[in-house]
Amino acid sequence: LVSRKKKQEDTLISLGDVTIGGGSPIMIAGPCSVESYEQVRTVAAALKEAGITVMRGGAFKPRTSPYDFQGLGIEGLKILKEVAAEFGLKTISEIVDPAHIELASDYIDVIQIGARNMQNFELLKAAGDVKTPILLKRGLAATLDEFVHAAEYIVSRGNTQVMLIERGIRTYEKATRNTLDISAVPILKQETHLPVLVDVTHSTGRKDILAPCAKAALAAGADGVMVEVHPDPATALSDAAQQLNIPQFHDFYAEVKKSGLM
Ligand code: PEP
Ligand code: MN
Repeated sequence: LVSRKKKQEDTLISLGDVTIGGGSPIMIAGPCSVESYEQVRTVAAALKEAGITVMRGGAFKPRTSPYDFQGLGIEGLKILKEVAAEFGLKTISEIVDPAHIELASDYIDVIQIGARNMQNFELLKAAGDVKTPILLKRGLAATLDEFVHAAEYIVSRGNTQVMLIERGIRTYEKATRNTLDISAVPILKQETHLPVLVDVTHSTGRKDILAPCAKAALAAGADGVMVEVHPDPATALSDAAQQLNIPQFHDFYAEVKKSGLM
């Protein structure tokens, strides 16, 4: 169902007055984790000022270590909803439990399925049973064929509002946190009709190469880029090393726009 052979036209994701896919790329930004009302509000105000329409922020955090910050859960979703309403932003947040898929639409506009859950088939099926748009992340070591099949799980249950996001894969290279697979973008665009985005933060884990990687993603045909922004990255409860602060975000976004690719 997700194949271009089945449907030639691009799938568009419509979030009220914001559309993802179909030719005008979007920048999605926000903190790794929702940590507090003030933290999210500070980021939202900056994003709004920059003209950003979709904010990300994790409330359920699938962390490598059980001793790391696990997120604020439903409380975090409530914060996102309140702040988004104040600033007129759309929101994306990860859901990890199939039991939360239905209630997620009370709080957020897009459900993210994280890399670690790309093949959590019960979660994919639950995501397929609702109408809420889904942002599906590529698994840490997933082939493109496995990635596309994960999307097929969702679409085959009836939810056609699915976007794919490349977020880097595991390789032997240590210079970046993961290896950004740029070739995934044109391949997924060719093979499927779904919007394809690139998460430059998790794929590189490095603030110093985000702009060139975002430009590469857009030049390769990506429908959008996602980046992490935090008011004070050094104190962040997750991914402290890789989040941009607000002035850095403004510079990053200006540089990407200067390319004329978005
Ligand atoms: C995230 O985007 O918040 C995240 C946890 O990323 P990933 O699932 O790609 O590791
Ligand atoms: Mn993160």
